[in-house]
Amino acid sequence: MNNETKNCQNCKTDFIIEPEDFSFYEKIKVPPPTFCPECRLQRRMAFRNERTLYKAVCDLCTKNVVTIFDPEIHKTIYCGSCWWGDSWDGTEYAMEYDSSRNFFDQLKDLMLKTPKMNLVVTYSTLKNSDYINHAGGCKNCYLLFNADFCENVYYSTIVNHSKDVADCLMMNKTEFAYECIGGDGSRIFFSENCAESVDVWYSKDCVSCTNCFGCVNLRNKSYHIFNQAYSKEEYLEKIKSMNLDKYSYHKLIQSSIHDFWNKFPRRFMYGRMNVNVTGEYVYASKNVKNSYMTASADDAKYCQFITLPSFKDSYDISEWGSGVESCVDSITAGEGIYQVKYSSGVWSNVKNVEYSMYVINSSDCFGCVGLRNKQYCILNKQYSKEEYQKLREQIINSLEANPYVDSQGRIFKYGEFMPYDLSPFSYNASYAIQYFPMTKEEIQNKGFIFSEIKSGEHNITKNTADLPDSISDITDAVTKEVLACTLCTKPYRIALGELELLKRLSLPVPRSCPNCRHNRRIDRVNKWRLFERNCGKCQISIQTSYAPERPEIVYCEKCYQQEVY
Ligand SMILES: [Zn+2]
Ligand SMILES: [Zn+2]
Ligand SMILES: [Zn+2]
Ligand SMILES: [Zn+2]
Repeated sequence: MNNETKNCQNCKTDFIIEPEDFSFYEKIKVPPPTFCPECRLQRRMAFRNERTLYKAVCDLCTKNVVTIFDPEIHKTIYCGSCWWGDSWDGTEYAMEYDSSRNFFDQLKDLMLKTPKMNLVVTYSTLKNSDYINHAGGCKNCYLLFNADFCENVYYSTIVNHSKDVADCLMMNKTEFAYECIGGDGSRIFFSENCAESVDVWYSKDCVSCTNCFGCVNLRNKSYHIFNQAYSKEEYLEKIKSMNLDKYSYHKLIQSSIHDFWNKFPRRFMYGRMNVNVTGEYVYASKNVKNSYMTASADDAKYCQFITLPSFKDSYDISEWGSGVESCVDSITAGEGIYQVKYSSGVWSNVKNVEYSMYVINSSDCFGCVGLRNKQYCILNKQYSKEEYQKLREQIINSLEANPYVDSQGRIFKYGEFMPYDLSPFSYNASYAIQYFPMTKEEIQNKGFIFSEIKSGEHNITKNTADLPDSISDITDAVTKEVLACTLCTKPYRIALGELELLKRLSLPVPRSCPNCRHNRRIDRVNKWRLFERNCGKCQISIQTSYAPERPEIVYCEKCYQQEVY
């Protein structure tokens, strides 16, 4: 079989389906896709709201909750305890399939009327962590997203097995970290991708380093400042004189540190312990292609945000892992899932589930929403095995003959993820807006949903300019203040746990709001699109996330290794 070039239904650019792709689709019995890999990713992401939070009231117990579901759109929202409780069952919302209507229109009706869990979390595994989403096994965490097994972690995203961390993105097995992107170790501050390192500040791409400040590309080094060696005594003296407890010092160094980092070459991709992989931020993986922020995966393609092993034989899966096999085009999926297709939010022993949302511990379900512990259900209605198989075939055939066509003329048959119109979230509240930003007009023109997100009314009680420079002069009283973000002017607060951590680490309180801090990290992180570029030293062709016009010096593996050792 040869490569086949297809034109993407959404962006109208050509994309290639390779022989190995056809074999995969054949093996899991689905047709090849008609959207390009990037549009498939954007579409999945539009079905996930990670960090846009609303206030609501639980419809069962009337408790106040925060939720990712806009209460103006979703009429029934349950708190964690009620959603996971026994007082209701998703089959109460069952719909009889109506062959005179398009299946996806019926699935949308079901999606809108089924009770939503306020947050997508494994509720019973969380302690004192009411404001975290897409998380499990966490304790004393706040505004933490896409995380597992964390304690005292604040304002962070994609963090696993970590403790005492704030304002970080993409960390694993780390304790005491602040304002970092990528990396692991202990006491890592304002650094990017420093692995297995301890007591590291404002450093980038260092491995196994201790007591380093402003260093780049170092291996197994100690007591270095801006890549220069010092004696232990000189180093400690210099660090002491920097006044790292003061906001004014950090503001000064942050104005120049990125220019310093950019003087050093970068490896063409971030990744370690891999065999035969392409992508960006891929770790401990084998035969993984075009994937992004993926760890411990085998035989996978076009996957993103895979954080926990095991993960194998899957295409187009975004977010999670922990037992994923033979799955395709789904988001927020894990914990023992097999043959899950075109679904969002399915986990814990799930098998043969398609076109479903928020389905837990179930198998053989097609077009279901909000189900637990079920088998042979379609549109939440219970069938016998034989009835199920017959009706599933009937719906697939009817979608083939009369596909769903959206406002932009995009066609959805069996073999494509759910149409955009079925997302429980507006585009601007979804995960997609972070990686595929668009204005209100662009969102509407492209046939996505837009809705205004109201922010709470708060009167500013203190200007950040009036905060003491040093953390040592800041008292608990600051947690009672409403501060104005220096970047977007919106109100924000300092949380008590956050302040305690900053005091322990002797770091100043942030002068911008959590969203601006998060967006700044997202801006800095490398994105998944790969470009052809030449090595900055030997000129061989490399595949890299650094676009050719970008100013960074990018080296191939061989040239980079010569540079750092
Ligand atoms: Zn496309
Ligand atoms: Zn409740
Ligand atoms: Zn802000
Ligand atoms: Zn080279």
